[in-house]
Amino acid sequence: RPAPSPAVPSVSERTASHPCFTCGACATSARLHLPIAPMCNLSCNYCLRKYDCPNESRPGVTTAVLSPEQAFERFIQVRRDMPNLTVVGIAGPGDSLANAEATFRTLEMIRAEDPAITFCMSTNGLALPEHVEDMKRVGVSHATVTINAVDPSIGARIYRYADFGGTRYTGETAAALLLANQLAGLRALTAAGIVCKVNTVLLKGINDHHIPKVVETVRDLGAELTNIMQLIPVKGSAFEHMPLVSNKELMDMRKRCEPTLRQMYHCKQCRADAVGLLADDRSIDYRPIKID
Ligand code: SF4
Ligand code: SF4
Repeated sequence: RPAPSPAVPSVSERTASHPCFTCGACATSARLHLPIAPMCNLSCNYCLRKYDCPNESRPGVTTAVLSPEQAFERFIQVRRDMPNLTVVGIAGPGDSLANAEATFRTLEMIRAEDPAITFCMSTNGLALPEHVEDMKRVGVSHATVTINAVDPSIGARIYRYADFGGTRYTGETAAALLLANQLAGLRALTAAGIVCKVNTVLLKGINDHHIPKVVETVRDLGAELTNIMQLIPVKGSAFEHMPLVSNKELMDMRKRCEPTLRQMYHCKQCRADAVGLLADDRSIDYRPIKID
């Protein structure tokens, strides 16, 4: 007789065992980021793609980009090693939806093998509206959308360009297009029952005064929590010399926004190939051996 398949958790059970959405789960539940998404459709001034994606880590650093088949193998290996693995996430090193084919192929393969594992995706939101149906189809229950501004004149200072439908947009046009897709996408996700977190990078002198408005806007669209993060200046990026935000300034902003919407206080700004508990990254155990 085949082994009984594991019970499929409800969305609220998945949230309770997701280490990013439930702080209490971060000491016990492991997550696996599969680095299968190298390309991006956006150019954030704090990013330098050869180093990776500041949206969800320091950032998105990965030793190697995996094919969907290699990612599936890594999942099988990590699940064998870590019985406490609860979440598979796609978090770069570029944008999950700018690599939609690889993202959905990977998730389809894993879903066929394991109906119980929780799927989480992070995205800048530019391509969200056209992919919410795919996310539902493969069983994504949790998503993170990075939204740094809800005013195109502020967004224009954060993004260099946005590639959409075969055209490259710049300036306020790019920021307005991005914003429209982020808001429509977030609304569609929450309407589909997908639990959403919004990441916002706190950029001194650019969006610091504006973040409460971002938090209010995403709350009204159904986001469950926001994760206001420090900028990690990347050498060679346009924001390399941006003033740093202190821990106190960051905490003050989170506290100010807490009455509006639940805040995340325990983000570790993980790598795109992170493995294990949030506070105990084991990705080194799974990296390909490099021979110099
Ligand atoms: Fe970089 Fe991520 Fe922004 Fe793309 S969305 S430019 S990978 S930080
Ligand atoms: Fe969770 Fe933050 Fe790490 Fe993403 S970057 S997996 S939200 S702790």
